[in-house]
Amino acid sequence: MAILLNCILFFLASLKSLIQRRSVGGSKICAFFIWFFLIFSTLLTVFYGEYFIVSDSILSATTLLAIAQTNLSEGLSYLKDNFLHPRSILLSLAFICVLFSFLLYVYKSHTQAKLTTYSKSNPLLLSLIIVLSLFLLYKTSSNYITEPFYGLKNGLDSYVQFKEQSAKRAALLGDEKCQDSGFPGLYILVLGESQSKRHMGAYGYKRNTTPWLSSLKDSNNLVLFEQVFSNHTHTVPTLTYALTAKSQYDNSVLENSPSILDVAKCAGFSTYWVSNQLKYGAWDTPITVISSSADEQFFINQNLGYSTNSTFFDENLVDELYKIKNIPRKTLVVVHLMGSHSAYADRYPKSFSLWGNSKKIDTYDNSISYTDFVLKNIYDWAAKQPNFMAMIYLSDHADAVDKNLSHDSSQFDWSMTEIPMFIKFSNSYVKEHARLLHALKQNRSKPFTNDMLYDSMLSILGIKSLFYNQANDITRPQYHGDLKKLYTLHGVRSFQDYGK
Ligand SMILES: [Zn+2]
Repeated sequence: MAILLNCILFFLASLKSLIQRRSVGGSKICAFFIWFFLIFSTLLTVFYGEYFIVSDSILSATTLLAIAQTNLSEGLSYLKDNFLHPRSILLSLAFICVLFSFLLYVYKSHTQAKLTTYSKSNPLLLSLIIVLSLFLLYKTSSNYITEPFYGLKNGLDSYVQFKEQSAKRAALLGDEKCQDSGFPGLYILVLGESQSKRHMGAYGYKRNTTPWLSSLKDSNNLVLFEQVFSNHTHTVPTLTYALTAKSQYDNSVLENSPSILDVAKCAGFSTYWVSNQLKYGAWDTPITVISSSADEQFFINQNLGYSTNSTFFDENLVDELYKIKNIPRKTLVVVHLMGSHSAYADRYPKSFSLWGNSKKIDTYDNSISYTDFVLKNIYDWAAKQPNFMAMIYLSDHADAVDKNLSHDSSQFDWSMTEIPMFIKFSNSYVKEHARLLHALKQNRSKPFTNDMLYDSMLSILGIKSLFYNQANDITRPQYHGDLKKLYTLHGVRSFQDYGK
């Protein structure tokens, strides 16, 4: 609120100066600064004010980072979902009216000043207001305006370092024990998007949104995990920790943490990345870097950051899978879905309008039902392959759709972290690794955050690595599963407060 007041103070001070300059004259430099402050304060007020009104929260670094990593069409989806809101539209209209009135006032004052003698107002007072405002904004090293931008810079810097250190990470793996380790076979890791387990029939939701998964619940080859949470609520930070050795529970540095693809390649796996998400954002993210390291990459949405055209439904990914011929002896395929990414109604074909299209929740449920259909198709392809071993599915984070929120961490709600996760094994894997499967079933109701996926995946794939934290491995009978020891938002929120 103080910042908003300060912005308004700026606005009024600048406007007052403008009136006086118009009336009594002044230099062009003076005019430049006055207009600069006027526009600057106006934009800041609109930007922070609208965000606050729409989200009931203050802009944070992670939100800015998410915006920086998005593209035009995702940005438009975000605007469509969040800012085409009655409150926001009313605020915009009110602001335009106020601005127009002020400008009219300036114009009238200017006209009248030509006719009457206009007394100079107190320049000392004006200077004091501007100096005070500058002091409040810049002299304090940490405030609500500067903090998100410092955080944005730090986040982008660490991502740049992750990219620059690719060669170093590969060198670290060069002579270590991963070589020639790993259980042969085809493994598929499917990364979901914005899927809440609260909206899945298989997890007890009132609508049967997951007929395929529900039909498998009694299968001996399926492990459906009951208490899995996301390590963050934004896609890039969540997947960065899920796919690398870095987790919330160690002190390692991200740029020195190899990805699951790095270690799989070291162990002799052929790696594939099949994605319906866009390859390019405004900046390279660790996800871009990790996907680029795959031996083969298929990005069905080739519009280079300018469109997430709704014709690119997730089932098109299955066509790409069928293009993979002569699957090598050891293979890891990562499939990255568009899932339930907002706007939900753009994520499924019309034939999947199963629960109606009028309410947001209905369109969200349609997208969940469609993802279940896509997962079935992916599994059907995998099961046909002679060396299929396991399909692992989990979502990056959830959406708090029941509270009319998406997954903005500045509006954090625990339901944003409640994600589904399951593994469907082949008969041959179950036979060869009965103890591992038994431990997984024992642990399926233990709490788990998805930054521990990397360590658990290593065991499922049988890969040995120096970059392995056994405490994070849910395939071990000793896995702690203590909710109180778990965190989200990268260590900021403890699950000790879960549900509060
Ligand atoms: Zn996401």
